[in-house]
Amino acid sequence: MRTHKVAVIPGDGIGLEVIEAGKQVIEALAKKSGDFNFEFEDFDWSSKRYLEQGEYIPEGGLAKLAKFDAIYFGAVGSQDVPDHVSLWDLRLAICQGFDQYANVRPARVLPGVKSRLEGADKIDWVIIRENSEGEYSGNGGRVHQGLPDEIGTELSIFSRKGIERIHRFAFEMAQSRPRKKLTLVTKSNAQRHGMVLWDEVFFEVAKDFPEVEIDRELVDAVTTRMVLKPETLDVVVATNLHADILSDLAAALSGSLGIAPTANLNPERSFPSMFEPIHGSAFDIAGQGIANPVGSFWTAAMMLEYLGENTAAERLMAAIERLTESGMQTKDLGGDAMTRDVTAAICADIEAQG
Ligand code: ATP
Ligand code: MG
Repeated sequence: MRTHKVAVIPGDGIGLEVIEAGKQVIEALAKKSGDFNFEFEDFDWSSKRYLEQGEYIPEGGLAKLAKFDAIYFGAVGSQDVPDHVSLWDLRLAICQGFDQYANVRPARVLPGVKSRLEGADKIDWVIIRENSEGEYSGNGGRVHQGLPDEIGTELSIFSRKGIERIHRFAFEMAQSRPRKKLTLVTKSNAQRHGMVLWDEVFFEVAKDFPEVEIDRELVDAVTTRMVLKPETLDVVVATNLHADILSDLAAALSGSLGIAPTANLNPERSFPSMFEPIHGSAFDIAGQGIANPVGSFWTAAMMLEYLGENTAAERLMAAIERLTESGMQTKDLGGDAMTRDVTAAICADIEAQG
């Protein structure tokens, strides 16, 4: 019996609901398989905790997390805490503390899901986001605060090491996919230092991957290509900021924010990786039982694959696709199914599979 130890951080808002649903689905998969089980440990690191105790992560918290095989994360964000505090104190503290430098975001229109984009069925992308430096390195400062000549700087940091490892990861991802295409995205016409370094290192790494077909695009141009010629993209690699924006666009084009998953990987496996749906805490619908849990399920499938449970991951993806195809949908997709209905349907499908 293989045992996977997973730290669970549901976080805020609908994070609590969709992660609970995800755990049920994972339990159903483990029961079906009989070969593995999951030991979940819950951590109440949330905005509620921050407001009560002044911190998201307790002293020694990261060291505790380090012994898990993976982290299953919900969402963080609250009206009562500035977004830059909750983001940096919890999510980024984990991503940076565990050097989860590769953020992976698949985008695909699931059967039965309507996209607003004509031809969206041709979307089959993986967006690779550099997740440890760049525009979100947290460097900068403010002077003359509150005065008319106040200045704020936000410094992007791009290191050769950081660039090379994300490109190498992206090439490996492209190489493992049927179309073997990789598009480099930067803005090296207007930004002539760090972005040019990004381009240069990309073409150096490309020499080690002769079977991958490469091309390059400026970030503004690639947004139009995503909308007008979605079939021409496969794997896309971009910086922290650029890929953040592109992956939200990708999620919107492929149906709903409620469906899309993401993985924050430490590819060397020196530290645990973290898996989360891309949506936020969505307080407007929290507590009503109407959140779409599919993003959390797809996230679980990525986590299962990462943990080597490929059969379970395939079973789960098959169940998700049958669900969306059947037309059972939550409100965000135009239906009236509740979170618990969708969860029960997925569990029943898993149980019934051969
Ligand atoms: P954050 O500030 O953490 O990004 P948010 O409150 O802005 O969180 P988002 O997750 O960014 O919320 O989502 C924006 C809107 O999309 C939500 O307010 C909600 O109405 C809808 N939404 C997001 N995720 C889901 C979901 N899983 N199911 C249903 N609707 C969702
Ligand atoms: Mg938001």
